[in-house]
Amino acid sequence: MQKRLVYNLMVDVIVIGGGAVGCATARNLSRFRLKTVLLEKASDICEGQSKANTAIVHGGYDAKPGTQKAKYNVLGNRMFQKVCSELDVPLKWNTSLVVTFSEDGIEKLEQLREQGRQNGVPKLSIIGRDELFRREPNLSREACAALLVETGGIVCPYEFTIANAENAAENGVRFCRNAEVRKVSRDETGFWTVESAAGTFTARAVVNCAGLYSDRINNMVSEEKFHILPRRGEYYIIDKRYADTFHASIFQLPTKMGKGILVTPTVDGTILIGPTAEDIDDRDDTRTTPAGLAKSLKFGSRTWEHIPLRDVITTFSGIRAHCDKNDFILGEAPDAPLFFNAGGVESPGLTSSPAIGEFLAGLVADRLHAEPNPNFQPVRHAIPKFREMDAAQREKAIASNPDYAKVVCRCETVTEAEIREAIRRPVGARTIDGIKRRTRAGMGRCQAGFCTPRTVQILSEELHISPLEVTKFGGNSKLLQSYLFTKGEDDHAQR
Ligand SMILES: Cc1cc2nc3c(=O)[nH]c(=O)nc-3n(C[C@H](O)[C@H](O)[C@H](O)COP(=O)(O)OP(=O)(O)OC[C@H]3O[C@@H](n4cnc5c(N)ncnc54)[C@H](O)[C@@H]3O)c2cc1C
Repeated sequence: MQKRLVYNLMVDVIVIGGGAVGCATARNLSRFRLKTVLLEKASDICEGQSKANTAIVHGGYDAKPGTQKAKYNVLGNRMFQKVCSELDVPLKWNTSLVVTFSEDGIEKLEQLREQGRQNGVPKLSIIGRDELFRREPNLSREACAALLVETGGIVCPYEFTIANAENAAENGVRFCRNAEVRKVSRDETGFWTVESAAGTFTARAVVNCAGLYSDRINNMVSEEKFHILPRRGEYYIIDKRYADTFHASIFQLPTKMGKGILVTPTVDGTILIGPTAEDIDDRDDTRTTPAGLAKSLKFGSRTWEHIPLRDVITTFSGIRAHCDKNDFILGEAPDAPLFFNAGGVESPGLTSSPAIGEFLAGLVADRLHAEPNPNFQPVRHAIPKFREMDAAQREKAIASNPDYAKVVCRCETVTEAEIREAIRRPVGARTIDGIKRRTRAGMGRCQAGFCTPRTVQILSEELHISPLEVTKFGGNSKLLQSYLFTKGEDDHAQR
């Protein structure tokens, strides 16, 4: 059995939620002399919106001027290069295109360009058919013009979130997973008590980064209530064979439900088609549905006429934390001193996360009169990826660690050395999905059909647990039910 600690801890700051925003906030808090703990209800960080989105670093043309979304989108976009360089996270400035399929749409493109300019987005221009097809020869011939957003990019959202968490942990932040927060209250001395599935924590300040549940956490302590209206988006992922089909992230004209269905390359070489926008009741209902996928396909086909359905490697959905206030709720709650919100952070929340994290951490540090942490180390190194090494680098890697010679995931060329390191790192993987998001083992064409047994075995060895206890994503998601043979019988069968 894995040992489970029950905490009774006093700290300076508690961050609730380990998504992109919570992890960026934790990293920025570690720039100060503050004892910080991050509580995450899932078995791993990056299990909410931050794991299932379109992975675009938005330019910032889409949000209404004057909103928090517009402000933090543009600030976050400007910070991305530096943060990704420090954290060794792949980022590609591939540009975004908002395409219209009829001349009538050109006026709307001009409005978007104007809106972007008001938001402070540089390098926006409208391009006609010739330039559009020069850039994107595989785009549907119906396309007639587009808004070119030169500051649009793509990033791996889980690598980004996990890198923030690892760096925060290296700088002293403590991460508790399986720590669902159930009650937040303030005592007469002004301290916050947070009761969680992992124990009780007391702190001077609390930062609510609970994504789809940020309303529930806020509404426990503040009369300034807001409500999350979950909005699901469904996607297809197309095989890497098509990596060169499109260069830019290609949007269609936005609707009142969002930025519409797009076709975009990912930093890992696959192509995403989606997302839909469907208001749902259950915040955890991450199913894909025939109707949702059909819609993604129908609208996606306007951009990419002949979507190769036989090369779909999987489908997935993500749920947006759409807020009834229609904007991010950021800052100290007016009636709850030292309780801070990052509520309703839907798109462009991934792009905004470095700026939101910096803003909130600065605010907390200010209010707590915290000194800078002289030992803060901003640099984190990624796990060296065997698939990206040349022959000489591979030879060197294998010489220093023979586990680099053992390829576990054939589709993505992930080695045993990478998987073991993903487990051993700060805030390391504890589940099959945790390995997947840290290394890409299981993310390829066979979708973990081949590598799962070996990954279970490695997790079992590294965590000193029985293979029967290894889970896909914590809780009851065990993969194995029982042994076919007991130890003695197994030896006998093998003879
Ligand atoms: C379909 C879709 C497409 C998107 N596309 C983009 C895009 O292309 N570009 C972009 O910039 N943004 C995009 N976004 C938005 C972006 O993904 C989010 O804004 C961002 O990930 C929010 O991060 P977060 O940390 O606030 O929330 P989350 O990632 O949801 O993290 C919240 C965390 O809090 C935890 N939690 C919840 N309740 C509790 C509790 N009681 N106790 C402890 N922990 C708790 C959850 O388990 C979760 O891990 C998209 C979102 C979706 C859904």
